[in-house]
Amino acid sequence: MACLDPSEQKRYRHARDFLQESIRAASIPFWEQEEFPVGLVRELGRQGLGELQVDGSSALFKGLMYTEVARADVSLSALVGIHNELIVGMINDLGSPEQKERWLPGLRSLSVLGAFALTEPQHGSDIAGGLETTARGDGAEWIISGAKRWIGSGTVADFSLVWARDIADGQIKGFIVESDRPGFTATKIRHKIGLRIVQNADLDLDEVRIPRENLLPGATSFSATTNLLRDSRAWVGWQAAGIQLAAFDIARSYALDRHQFGKPLARFQLVQLQLSEILGNASASLAMMVRVASLQEAGHLQMAQAAMAKATTTRLARQSVAMGRSLLGGNGISTDFEMAKLFGDAEVLYTYEGSYEINSLIVGRAVTGKSAFV
Ligand SMILES: Cc1cc2nc3c(=O)[nH]c(=O)nc-3n(C[C@H](O)[C@H](O)[C@H](O)COP(=O)(O)OP(=O)(O)OC[C@H]3O[C@@H](n4cnc5c(N)ncnc54)[C@H](O)[C@@H]3O)c2cc1C
Repeated sequence: MACLDPSEQKRYRHARDFLQESIRAASIPFWEQEEFPVGLVRELGRQGLGELQVDGSSALFKGLMYTEVARADVSLSALVGIHNELIVGMINDLGSPEQKERWLPGLRSLSVLGAFALTEPQHGSDIAGGLETTARGDGAEWIISGAKRWIGSGTVADFSLVWARDIADGQIKGFIVESDRPGFTATKIRHKIGLRIVQNADLDLDEVRIPRENLLPGATSFSATTNLLRDSRAWVGWQAAGIQLAAFDIARSYALDRHQFGKPLARFQLVQLQLSEILGNASASLAMMVRVASLQEAGHLQMAQAAMAKATTTRLARQSVAMGRSLLGGNGISTDFEMAKLFGDAEVLYTYEGSYEINSLIVGRAVTGKSAFV
């Protein structure tokens, strides 16, 4: 069974307190105004949250950090998770020595940001087969053309890791496209109901020229990304545990403060039932993720196990925040009381990194030997 060593326990406690004291309340106005909190992101960098993927942390410690960031603010946990799992992870595992030297130092301190650009306007769940963005070799350059949708940090990142199909061999490959390249445009997607701090963008790539050496040498076919994409599914499970701990914290405190019929809500049996169910869901999610961390550390985590963890924990998270929302009555509708923020954020966890349905179908395929979706 995975467990934290004493130095990780100390670091965990310090990070948890810092996140509750310095990030949780400070993030709320940014969420409400859909703005990017540069200062808070730099603070997370100073706490070492930009380098969890490469600093020797155990899988359990890394996961618990994602949970605690989510407990403070789910948007920032999305940023930290995508940054570690999909940007730092891809460049560290699949990049050239020059790419690592150029990008990793700034990424580790969160003073440089990357965006992971896979989803397209017409292809989400079927992206692996349907991806339309193209890469064409032209002398010493690649020319990238196409469109991407929902790309986190797209308007604020220094570069995007763009997945495009090489027209020469039909393979999907990973390319580093710096945001100041001519022909690259990022347009912020507004009016989201969740993860409002994450600056999701529509990207337009109009014949963008990049040097040949911007291809990730380890990412010359989509199958090279399988392990990283498996781990990034699992990462959402830690977020789902964190959002439920936040829902519990808020619901419990509200139930103790708010009085009806001359008593605190906490005295009513039906309210205690809801608190018990939220805590039970959060604990079940955490227990599942601790098991995932053990499998990761042993090198045994399978895609279907990651998909099951992602699907199950996000289903529980959706139930937990709905109970929390109801427990706060009318005040559960206002983001001034935090629960409504979690209610919107949970919807994103349910859908991104493979929707609930697609992850369930991955499990279904594993347990029947029959694919229902390809
Ligand atoms: C806030 C947010 C942040 C995101 N960040 C990023 C990012 O940084 N980078 C990135 O590349 N992408 C990102 N995404 C995209 C995300 O991964 C996709 O939204 C997700 O994969 C679903 O794709 P879709 O939205 O196109 O839905 P669709 O694929 O159109 O699916 C619509 C519905 O149909 C269901 N469905 C589809 N096919 C089947 C089937 N065969 N059987 C049963 N049901 C099916 C789905 O489950 C879903 O309920 C983000 C999305 C959001 C909302």
